[in-house]
Amino acid sequence: MSDKKTFPAAAADRRSAVELDKKLISITVPVYQEQEVIKVFHEELARVIDQIEGFLFEIIYINDGSTDQTEAIITEIAKSDDRVTLINLSRNFGHQYALTCGLDYASGDAVICMDADLQHPPNLIPLLVQKWQEGYDIVYTIRKMTVKTGLFKALTANMFYRLINTISEVPIYRDAADFRLISRKVADVFRKEIRERNRFLRGLTSWVGFNSIGIEFDVQRRAAGKSKFSPPKMLKLASAGGTSFSTIPLKIGIYVGLLFAFLSVLYAFYAIYIYLFTDGAVPGWTSIVVSIMFISAFQFMLIGILGLYIGHMFEEVKGRPIYIVRSVVRAGCRLPTADRQSI
Ligand code: UDP
Ligand code: MG
Repeated sequence: MSDKKTFPAAAADRRSAVELDKKLISITVPVYQEQEVIKVFHEELARVIDQIEGFLFEIIYINDGSTDQTEAIITEIAKSDDRVTLINLSRNFGHQYALTCGLDYASGDAVICMDADLQHPPNLIPLLVQKWQEGYDIVYTIRKMTVKTGLFKALTANMFYRLINTISEVPIYRDAADFRLISRKVADVFRKEIRERNRFLRGLTSWVGFNSIGIEFDVQRRAAGKSKFSPPKMLKLASAGGTSFSTIPLKIGIYVGLLFAFLSVLYAFYAIYIYLFTDGAVPGWTSIVVSIMFISAFQFMLIGILGLYIGHMFEEVKGRPIYIVRSVVRAGCRLPTADRQSI
């Protein structure tokens, strides 16, 4: 397609005159410690996109601070496949941040985000592209959870989506995966307008609007390696999702406070009745202890919820970058940290 010496022209600029009328599709893939699977993934991805005619492709791997051989392997891949760009982040920022970096760097007319472990099957790409060609700006995918996904994952994901949809102010598609295609228009909204730090891209994709369509797919088993989503990472994602799309948890306090106020009035009547009309049994130690424990537990919970929101506000106020790029590798050559506008 192009002469490698022309680097570092962006894939969009590398189109020859004949190819100018072809649309460019960017595929962005966050990778973290994926040395076991990344080569197989790339081969499978290349096999699928080689069969799609009429489009050009660029593949952007975002190395989210891997400390294993991932970077070396992708650098090798980039030498032999000039569609590949590798962006190395300065440390592990997390999946959502790596995805954001991919969206920022992608120059295609459409951008596809997918995981590197083959759980998001590359052979769904032709369908994503077809739906985009039919006029959809967002083509998202819905995981059909099966035993293959793992019981724990299926259960926690199920609980999470139930809860978040009860409290969220925008619908968050159940079992939506971070495997989707978005048009340039939507990618630009993410690139220019949505710069919040506390990110939950699945919710934001629903929040931005545009005409969208969902496609179901069977989640595959990880081709190799282990899940990089430890329970703390899952909790972080859940809290980002919950607090950035709802203020209802903050209101829990008001409702429960009202309930307690009402109950305490009833209890006061009861206490007065006991005082006036009976021999005054020993003032109820049990009820005092139980109610103090109950109320203080509830207060702790509320303080925790307040803390979550304040923590997220603190993150935003600090105004730090969402991620930091250490280096960019394209066509097998290492570029210094590039300004994303200039590549
Ligand atoms: N990932 C990442 N940074 C992280 C954790 C994961 O870039 O801190 C990548 C990972 O390499 C994979 C994708 O995000 O391509 C999804 O991660 P994983 O498959 O481990 O999550 P799961 O499918 O178990 O939810
Ligand atoms: Mg996975």
